[in-house]
Amino acid sequence: MIAEILCVGTELLMGQVLNTNAQFLSRRLSAMGISQYHQTVVGDNDQRLEEAYRLALSRADVVITSGGLGPTVDDVTKRVAARVAGKELVLHPEAEAMVRERFRQYHREMTPNNLSQAMFTEDSIILLNHHGTAPGAIVPMGGGKEVIHLPGPPFELEPMWLEQAEPYLQRRSGRALVSRYVRVFGMGEAEVDQRLNDLEMGGNPSLSPYCSLGEVQLRATACADTPEEALRMLEPLIARVKERLGDVVYAVEDTEQGSLARCAVEALSRRGWTAAAAESLTGGMIASALVDVPGASRVLKGAMVTYQEEAKTLLAGVPEEMIRDHGVVSEPVARAMAEGARARLDTDIAVSATGLAGPDGGTEETPVGTVFIGVATREKTRVIPLRLAGSRMRIRTLAMKHALHALWEEATREDNHE
Ligand code: AMP
Ligand code: MG
Repeated sequence: MIAEILCVGTELLMGQVLNTNAQFLSRRLSAMGISQYHQTVVGDNDQRLEEAYRLALSRADVVITSGGLGPTVDDVTKRVAARVAGKELVLHPEAEAMVRERFRQYHREMTPNNLSQAMFTEDSIILLNHHGTAPGAIVPMGGGKEVIHLPGPPFELEPMWLEQAEPYLQRRSGRALVSRYVRVFGMGEAEVDQRLNDLEMGGNPSLSPYCSLGEVQLRATACADTPEEALRMLEPLIARVKERLGDVVYAVEDTEQGSLARCAVEALSRRGWTAAAAESLTGGMIASALVDVPGASRVLKGAMVTYQEEAKTLLAGVPEEMIRDHGVVSEPVARAMAEGARARLDTDIAVSATGLAGPDGGTEETPVGTVFIGVATREKTRVIPLRLAGSRMRIRTLAMKHALHALWEEATREDNHE
Protein backbone atom coordinates (compact mmCIF):
# COMPACT_ATOMS: atom_id res chain seq x y z
CA MET A 1 0.00 0.00 0.00
CA ILE A 2 1.26 3.46 -0.87
CA ALA A 3 0.02 6.48 1.04
CA GLU A 4 0.42 10.17 0.38
CA ILE A 5 -0.12 13.02 2.81
CA LEU A 6 -1.80 16.17 1.54
CA CYS A 7 -1.90 19.04 4.03
CA VAL A 8 -4.34 21.83 3.24
CA GLY A 9 -3.98 25.34 4.64
CA THR A 10 -2.58 28.66 3.49
CA GLU A 11 -1.20 29.18 7.03
CA LEU A 12 1.19 26.25 6.38
CA LEU A 13 2.47 27.80 3.15
CA MET A 14 2.99 31.15 4.89
CA GLY A 15 5.02 29.55 7.67
CA GLN A 16 2.56 30.65 10.34
CA VAL A 17 1.96 27.08 11.48
CA LEU A 18 4.52 24.30 11.64
CA ASN A 19 3.34 21.22 9.77
CA THR A 20 3.45 18.81 12.69
CA ASN A 21 0.57 16.76 11.25
CA ALA A 22 2.77 15.62 8.37
CA GLN A 23 5.45 14.51 10.81
CA PHE A 24 2.98 12.70 13.05
CA LEU A 25 1.29 10.92 10.14
CA SER A 26 4.58 10.01 8.44
CA ARG A 27 5.90 8.42 11.60
CA ARG A 28 2.74 6.40 12.08
CA LEU A 29 2.67 5.30 8.44
CA SER A 30 6.29 4.19 8.43
CA ALA A 31 5.70 2.31 11.68
CA MET A 32 2.89 0.48 9.90
CA GLY A 33 5.14 -0.40 7.00
CA ILE A 34 3.11 1.75 4.60
CA SER A 35 5.27 3.47 1.97
CA GLN A 36 5.14 7.15 1.11
CA TYR A 37 6.84 8.65 -1.92
CA HIS A 38 5.52 12.21 -1.89
CA GLN A 39 4.03 14.79 0.43
CA THR A 40 2.18 17.94 -0.53
CA VAL A 41 1.18 21.19 1.14
CA VAL A 42 -1.39 23.24 -0.69
CA GLY A 43 -3.20 26.46 0.23
CA ASP A 44 -6.96 26.86 0.66
CA ASN A 45 -7.44 27.15 -3.09
CA ASP A 46 -9.99 25.19 -5.03
CA GLN A 47 -8.14 24.71 -8.25
CA ARG A 48 -4.67 23.98 -6.90
CA LEU A 49 -6.19 21.53 -4.43
CA GLU A 50 -7.93 19.71 -7.26
CA GLU A 51 -4.63 19.37 -9.12
CA ALA A 52 -2.98 18.10 -5.95
CA TYR A 53 -5.70 15.46 -5.46
CA ARG A 54 -5.47 14.24 -9.03
CA LEU A 55 -1.70 13.94 -8.87
CA ALA A 56 -1.70 12.22 -5.47
CA LEU A 57 -4.41 9.77 -6.53
CA SER A 58 -2.45 8.93 -9.67
CA ARG A 59 0.45 7.62 -7.62
CA ALA A 60 -0.93 6.49 -4.22
CA ASP A 61 -3.65 4.14 -2.96
CA VAL A 62 -4.59 6.28 0.02
CA VAL A 63 -4.42 10.07 0.19
CA ILE A 64 -4.55 11.45 3.72
CA THR A 65 -5.63 15.07 4.06
CA SER A 66 -5.31 17.36 7.07
CA GLY A 67 -7.23 20.59 7.55
CA GLY A 68 -10.00 22.47 5.80
CA LEU A 69 -12.94 20.52 7.22
CA GLY A 70 -14.51 23.54 8.90
CA PRO A 71 -17.72 25.36 7.94
CA THR A 72 -16.25 28.43 6.24
CA VAL A 73 -15.85 29.13 2.51
CA ASP A 74 -12.09 28.57 2.62
CA ASP A 75 -12.66 25.02 3.92
CA VAL A 76 -12.55 23.31 0.55
CA THR A 77 -10.97 19.93 1.30
CA LYS A 78 -14.14 17.80 1.19
CA ARG A 79 -15.90 19.65 -1.59
CA VAL A 80 -12.97 19.35 -3.98
CA ALA A 81 -12.45 15.65 -3.18
CA ALA A 82 -16.12 15.01 -3.92
CA ARG A 83 -15.80 16.82 -7.23
CA VAL A 84 -12.76 14.73 -8.15
CA ALA A 85 -14.74 11.59 -7.26
CA GLY A 86 -17.66 12.91 -9.33
CA LYS A 87 -20.06 12.78 -6.39
CA GLU A 88 -22.32 15.07 -4.33
CA LEU A 89 -21.98 15.92 -0.67
CA VAL A 90 -24.98 14.82 1.38
CA LEU A 91 -25.87 15.20 5.03
CA HIS A 92 -24.82 12.15 7.09
CA PRO A 93 -27.16 11.71 10.09
CA GLU A 94 -24.43 10.12 12.22
CA ALA A 95 -22.09 13.05 11.56
CA GLU A 96 -24.89 15.55 12.09
CA ALA A 97 -25.70 14.05 15.50
CA MET A 98 -22.03 14.34 16.45
CA VAL A 99 -21.76 17.98 15.34
CA ARG A 100 -24.96 18.93 17.21
CA GLU A 101 -23.77 17.11 20.31
CA ARG A 102 -20.41 18.90 20.21
CA PHE A 103 -22.12 22.32 19.97
CA ARG A 104 -24.37 21.45 22.92
CA GLN A 105 -21.35 20.33 24.91
CA TYR A 106 -19.40 23.52 24.16
CA HIS A 107 -22.52 25.68 24.81
CA ARG A 108 -22.17 27.23 21.39
CA GLU A 109 -24.91 28.45 19.10
CA MET A 110 -24.98 26.36 15.94
CA THR A 111 -25.39 28.39 12.76
CA PRO A 112 -26.79 26.64 9.62
CA ASN A 113 -23.42 26.67 7.81
CA ASN A 114 -22.07 24.43 10.57
CA LEU A 115 -24.13 21.59 9.17
CA SER A 116 -21.75 21.55 6.20
CA GLN A 117 -19.34 19.87 8.60
CA ALA A 118 -21.65 16.84 8.58
CA MET A 119 -21.74 16.57 4.77
CA PHE A 120 -19.76 13.90 2.94
CA THR A 121 -20.24 11.83 -0.17
CA GLU A 122 -22.90 9.17 0.33
CA ASP A 123 -20.46 6.24 0.48
CA SER A 124 -18.08 7.88 3.00
CA ILE A 125 -17.27 6.23 6.31
CA ILE A 126 -17.51 8.86 9.06
CA LEU A 127 -14.68 9.30 11.57
CA LEU A 128 -16.04 10.82 14.77
CA ASN A 129 -14.20 13.76 16.31
CA HIS A 130 -14.14 13.49 20.10
CA HIS A 131 -12.15 16.71 20.52
CA GLY A 132 -13.73 19.17 18.09
CA THR A 133 -16.72 19.87 15.87
CA ALA A 134 -15.48 18.64 12.48
CA PRO A 135 -15.88 14.92 11.75
CA GLY A 136 -13.40 13.26 9.42
CA ALA A 137 -14.15 10.58 6.83
CA ILE A 138 -12.84 7.80 4.65
CA VAL A 139 -13.97 8.61 1.13
CA PRO A 140 -13.94 6.03 -1.70
CA MET A 141 -12.51 7.65 -4.84
CA GLY A 142 -13.05 4.81 -7.33
CA GLY A 143 -10.57 2.21 -8.52
CA GLY A 144 -10.03 0.99 -4.95
CA LYS A 145 -8.45 4.31 -3.98
CA GLU A 146 -9.44 6.30 -0.93
CA VAL A 147 -9.07 9.73 0.60
CA ILE A 148 -8.95 9.99 4.39
CA HIS A 149 -10.00 13.43 5.66
CA LEU A 150 -8.63 14.49 9.05
CA PRO A 151 -9.16 17.79 10.89
CA GLY A 152 -6.32 20.35 11.09
CA PRO A 153 -5.77 20.85 14.83
CA PRO A 154 -3.24 18.24 15.99
CA PHE A 155 -5.16 17.50 19.21
CA GLU A 156 -8.12 16.48 17.05
CA LEU A 157 -6.18 14.79 14.24
CA GLU A 158 -3.94 12.62 16.41
CA PRO A 159 -6.61 10.79 18.45
CA MET A 160 -8.82 10.42 15.35
CA TRP A 161 -5.91 8.85 13.52
CA LEU A 162 -4.86 6.55 16.36
CA GLU A 163 -8.35 5.44 17.36
CA GLN A 164 -10.10 5.19 14.00
CA ALA A 165 -8.07 5.74 10.83
CA GLU A 166 -5.03 3.67 11.75
CA PRO A 167 -7.05 0.58 12.81
CA TYR A 168 -9.01 0.90 9.54
CA LEU A 169 -5.84 0.99 7.41
CA GLN A 170 -4.39 -1.83 9.41
CA ARG A 171 -7.43 -4.01 8.72
CA ARG A 172 -7.24 -3.03 5.08
CA SER A 173 -3.57 -3.85 4.77
CA GLY A 174 -4.08 -7.19 6.56
CA ARG A 175 -1.03 -6.50 8.74
CA ALA A 176 -0.85 -6.79 12.52
CA LEU A 177 0.14 -3.79 14.61
CA VAL A 178 1.13 -4.49 18.20
CA SER A 179 2.01 -1.89 20.84
CA ARG A 180 3.57 -2.07 24.29
CA TYR A 181 3.73 0.83 26.75
CA VAL A 182 6.85 1.33 28.84
CA ARG A 183 6.19 3.47 31.91
CA VAL A 184 8.98 5.54 33.44
CA PHE A 185 9.06 7.45 36.73
CA GLY A 186 11.99 9.36 38.17
CA MET A 187 13.80 10.41 34.98
CA GLY A 188 13.10 13.59 33.03
CA GLU A 189 11.93 13.63 29.44
CA ALA A 190 15.18 15.13 28.16
CA GLU A 191 17.31 12.47 29.83
CA VAL A 192 15.07 9.66 28.56
CA ASP A 193 15.23 11.16 25.10
CA GLN A 194 19.00 11.42 25.18
CA ARG A 195 19.41 7.78 26.19
CA LEU A 196 16.96 6.46 23.61
CA ASN A 197 17.51 8.87 20.75
CA ASP A 198 18.78 6.33 18.22
CA LEU A 199 15.99 3.86 19.07
CA GLU A 200 13.39 6.56 18.47
CA MET A 201 14.70 6.95 14.92
CA GLY A 202 13.67 3.40 14.01
CA GLY A 203 10.78 2.94 11.60
CA ASN A 204 9.54 -0.55 12.45
CA PRO A 205 9.51 -1.28 15.33
CA SER A 206 9.00 2.33 16.36
CA LEU A 207 9.44 3.98 19.73
CA SER A 208 7.76 7.25 20.65
CA PRO A 209 7.78 9.00 24.02
CA TYR A 210 5.09 11.15 25.54
CA CYS A 211 5.14 12.86 28.87
CA SER A 212 2.84 13.83 31.66
CA LEU A 213 3.81 15.53 34.91
CA GLY A 214 6.79 13.62 36.37
CA GLU A 215 6.25 10.65 34.10
CA VAL A 216 7.34 9.50 30.68
CA GLN A 217 5.52 6.86 28.70
CA LEU A 218 7.09 5.15 25.70
CA ARG A 219 4.94 3.53 23.08
CA ALA A 220 6.72 0.74 21.23
CA THR A 221 4.92 -0.44 18.11
CA ALA A 222 5.74 -3.17 15.62
CA CYS A 223 4.01 -4.10 12.41
CA ALA A 224 4.20 -7.60 10.93
CA ASP A 225 2.16 -10.28 9.19
CA THR A 226 1.03 -11.79 12.49
CA PRO A 227 0.66 -10.43 16.06
CA GLU A 228 3.14 -13.07 17.25
CA GLU A 229 5.78 -11.87 14.84
CA ALA A 230 5.15 -8.22 15.81
CA LEU A 231 5.58 -9.15 19.46
CA ARG A 232 8.83 -10.93 18.67
CA MET A 233 10.08 -7.74 17.01
CA LEU A 234 9.17 -5.70 20.09
CA GLU A 235 10.99 -7.87 22.62
CA PRO A 236 14.58 -6.85 21.82
CA LEU A 237 13.56 -3.18 21.58
CA ILE A 238 11.94 -3.26 25.02
CA ALA A 239 14.91 -5.11 26.45
CA ARG A 240 17.21 -2.38 25.13
CA VAL A 241 15.00 0.36 26.57
CA LYS A 242 15.06 -1.29 30.00
CA GLU A 243 18.80 -1.78 29.81
CA ARG A 244 19.40 1.89 28.98
CA LEU A 245 16.95 3.36 31.48
CA GLY A 246 17.51 0.97 34.37
CA ASP A 247 15.13 0.83 37.32
CA VAL A 248 13.19 3.99 36.46
CA VAL A 249 11.11 1.66 34.26
CA TYR A 250 8.30 0.49 36.52
CA ALA A 251 5.98 -1.20 34.08
CA VAL A 252 5.67 -2.60 30.56
CA GLU A 253 2.01 -2.94 29.73
CA ASP A 254 -0.19 -3.78 26.76
CA THR A 255 -2.58 -0.92 27.51
CA GLU A 256 -2.27 2.82 27.34
CA GLN A 257 -4.57 3.17 30.35
CA GLY A 258 -1.96 2.25 32.97
CA SER A 259 -0.99 4.53 35.84
CA LEU A 260 1.26 4.67 38.87
CA ALA A 261 -1.79 4.19 41.08
CA ARG A 262 -2.83 1.10 39.18
CA CYS A 263 0.65 -0.39 39.37
CA ALA A 264 0.72 0.35 43.12
CA VAL A 265 -2.68 -1.27 43.72
CA GLU A 266 -1.73 -4.31 41.65
CA ALA A 267 1.64 -4.72 43.38
CA LEU A 268 0.04 -4.40 46.84
CA SER A 269 -2.67 -6.81 45.82
CA ARG A 270 -0.19 -9.42 44.54
CA ARG A 271 1.61 -9.10 47.82
CA GLY A 272 -1.59 -9.43 49.84
CA TRP A 273 -0.78 -6.17 51.63
CA THR A 274 -3.12 -3.60 53.10
CA ALA A 275 -2.17 0.06 52.90
CA ALA A 276 -2.84 3.36 54.66
CA ALA A 277 -1.82 6.98 54.09
CA ALA A 278 -1.28 10.08 56.18
CA GLU A 279 -1.45 13.12 53.94
CA SER A 280 -0.61 16.71 54.61
CA LEU A 281 0.12 18.76 51.49
CA THR A 282 -1.54 16.17 49.23
CA GLY A 283 -4.79 16.54 51.18
CA GLY A 284 -6.25 13.18 50.12
CA MET A 285 -4.82 12.99 46.60
CA ILE A 286 -2.91 9.78 47.33
CA ALA A 287 -6.01 8.03 48.64
CA SER A 288 -8.11 9.42 45.84
CA ALA A 289 -5.69 8.19 43.15
CA LEU A 290 -5.70 4.72 44.71
CA VAL A 291 -9.51 4.67 44.97
CA ASP A 292 -9.71 5.56 41.25
CA VAL A 293 -8.34 2.07 40.52
CA PRO A 294 -10.97 -0.71 40.45
CA GLY A 295 -10.04 -3.22 43.12
CA ALA A 296 -8.50 -0.62 45.45
CA SER A 297 -10.82 -1.78 48.25
CA ARG A 298 -8.74 -4.95 48.58
CA VAL A 299 -5.65 -2.96 49.52
CA LEU A 300 -6.45 0.54 50.78
CA LYS A 301 -7.78 0.23 54.33
CA GLY A 302 -8.03 3.96 54.96
CA ALA A 303 -6.25 7.28 54.93
CA MET A 304 -6.05 10.39 57.06
CA VAL A 305 -5.70 13.99 55.98
CA THR A 306 -3.51 15.44 58.72
CA TYR A 307 -3.25 19.00 57.52
CA GLN A 308 -2.73 21.19 60.58
CA GLU A 309 -0.07 20.26 63.10
CA GLU A 310 -2.64 19.30 65.71
CA ALA A 311 -4.22 16.77 63.34
CA LYS A 312 -0.85 15.11 62.84
CA THR A 313 -0.71 14.56 66.59
CA LEU A 314 -4.39 13.65 67.10
CA LEU A 315 -4.77 11.33 64.09
CA ALA A 316 -1.30 9.97 63.39
CA GLY A 317 0.18 10.29 66.88
CA VAL A 318 3.10 12.50 65.86
CA PRO A 319 4.64 13.81 69.14
CA GLU A 320 4.10 17.54 69.63
CA GLU A 321 7.74 18.05 70.66
CA MET A 322 8.91 16.44 67.43
CA ILE A 323 6.98 18.99 65.38
CA ARG A 324 8.30 21.78 67.60
CA ASP A 325 11.93 20.61 67.44
CA HIS A 326 12.20 19.61 63.78
CA GLY A 327 9.46 21.60 62.10
CA VAL A 328 6.36 20.13 60.50
CA VAL A 329 8.09 19.70 57.14
CA SER A 330 10.86 17.39 58.25
CA GLU A 331 12.21 13.89 57.94
CA PRO A 332 11.22 12.80 61.49
CA VAL A 333 7.64 14.05 61.06
CA ALA A 334 7.23 12.22 57.72
CA ARG A 335 8.55 9.08 59.42
CA ALA A 336 6.24 9.45 62.43
CA MET A 337 3.22 10.14 60.18
CA ALA A 338 3.81 6.96 58.16
CA GLU A 339 4.47 4.85 61.24
CA GLY A 340 1.48 6.35 63.05
CA ALA A 341 -0.90 5.74 60.14
CA ARG A 342 0.36 2.19 59.72
CA ALA A 343 0.04 1.38 63.41
CA ARG A 344 -3.34 3.03 63.94
CA LEU A 345 -4.94 1.47 60.88
CA ASP A 346 -3.00 -1.76 61.45
CA THR A 347 -1.87 -2.18 57.84
CA ASP A 348 1.15 -3.81 56.22
CA ILE A 349 2.35 -0.54 54.73
CA ALA A 350 1.63 3.19 54.99
CA VAL A 351 2.85 6.26 53.13
CA SER A 352 2.96 9.83 54.30
CA ALA A 353 3.53 13.19 52.66
CA THR A 354 4.50 16.41 54.39
CA GLY A 355 5.82 19.42 52.53
CA LEU A 356 5.54 23.01 51.51
CA ALA A 357 3.36 23.50 48.42
CA GLY A 358 3.62 27.30 48.48
CA PRO A 359 3.34 29.79 46.97
CA ASP A 360 4.04 31.42 50.39
CA GLY A 361 5.69 30.23 53.56
CA GLY A 362 9.11 29.24 52.22
CA THR A 363 12.25 29.97 54.20
CA GLU A 364 15.90 29.66 53.30
CA GLU A 365 16.12 26.40 55.20
CA THR A 366 12.80 25.01 53.99
CA PRO A 367 12.02 26.50 50.58
CA VAL A 368 8.72 26.00 48.79
CA GLY A 369 8.83 22.56 47.20
CA THR A 370 10.51 20.83 50.14
CA VAL A 371 8.65 17.54 50.57
CA PHE A 372 9.26 14.40 52.62
CA ILE A 373 7.59 11.12 51.69
CA GLY A 374 7.56 8.48 54.44
CA VAL A 375 7.07 4.76 53.78
CA ALA A 376 6.57 2.44 56.74
CA THR A 377 6.26 -1.34 56.61
CA ARG A 378 6.05 -3.74 59.55
CA GLU A 379 9.84 -4.08 59.39
CA LYS A 380 11.22 -0.65 58.64
CA THR A 381 10.57 2.94 57.67
CA ARG A 382 12.33 5.07 55.11
CA VAL A 383 11.91 8.68 54.13
CA ILE A 384 12.41 10.15 50.65
CA PRO A 385 13.44 13.83 50.72
CA LEU A 386 12.37 15.80 47.64
CA ARG A 387 13.03 19.26 46.28
CA LEU A 388 10.18 19.95 43.88
CA ALA A 389 9.51 23.11 41.91
CA GLY A 390 6.63 24.87 40.22
CA SER A 391 3.09 25.80 41.10
CA ARG A 392 1.22 24.64 44.20
CA MET A 393 -0.72 22.11 42.11
CA ARG A 394 2.41 20.81 40.44
CA ILE A 395 4.20 20.30 43.75
CA ARG A 396 1.19 18.54 45.28
CA THR A 397 0.70 16.30 42.23
CA LEU A 398 4.37 15.33 42.11
CA ALA A 399 4.34 14.59 45.86
CA MET A 400 1.32 12.32 45.31
CA LYS A 401 3.07 10.52 42.43
CA HIS A 402 6.23 10.00 44.47
CA ALA A 403 4.11 8.50 47.26
CA LEU A 404 2.38 6.11 44.84
CA HIS A 405 5.73 5.14 43.36
CA ALA A 406 7.10 4.50 46.86
CA LEU A 407 4.16 2.18 47.58
CA TRP A 408 4.78 0.32 44.33
CA GLU A 409 8.52 0.09 44.96
CA GLU A 410 8.12 -1.24 48.48
CA ALA A 411 5.49 -3.77 47.47
CA THR A 412 7.63 -5.12 44.60
CA ARG A 413 10.98 -4.90 46.39
CA GLU A 414 11.19 -8.43 47.71
CA ASP A 415 9.31 -9.78 44.72
CA ASN A 416 12.59 -9.33 42.89
CA HIS A 417 14.29 -11.85 45.14
CA GLU A 418 11.60 -14.49 44.96
P1 AMP B 1 -8.30 23.93 9.66
O1 AMP B 1 -8.93 22.62 10.03
O2 AMP B 1 -7.76 23.95 8.29
O3 AMP B 1 -9.23 25.09 9.93
O4 AMP B 1 -7.07 24.12 10.64
C1 AMP B 1 -7.26 24.52 11.96
C2 AMP B 1 -5.95 24.75 12.64
O5 AMP B 1 -5.26 23.53 12.77
C3 AMP B 1 -4.97 25.65 11.92
O6 AMP B 1 -5.20 26.99 12.17
C4 AMP B 1 -3.66 25.21 12.51
O7 AMP B 1 -3.43 25.83 13.76
C5 AMP B 1 -3.86 23.73 12.73
N1 AMP B 1 -3.28 22.98 11.64
C6 AMP B 1 -3.81 22.83 10.40
N2 AMP B 1 -3.01 22.06 9.64
C7 AMP B 1 -1.96 21.71 10.40
C8 AMP B 1 -0.79 20.92 10.18
N3 AMP B 1 -0.57 20.33 9.00
N4 AMP B 1 0.08 20.77 11.21
C9 AMP B 1 -0.15 21.36 12.40
N5 AMP B 1 -1.23 22.11 12.66
C10 AMP B 1 -2.13 22.30 11.69
MG1 MG C 1 -7.78 25.83 7.24
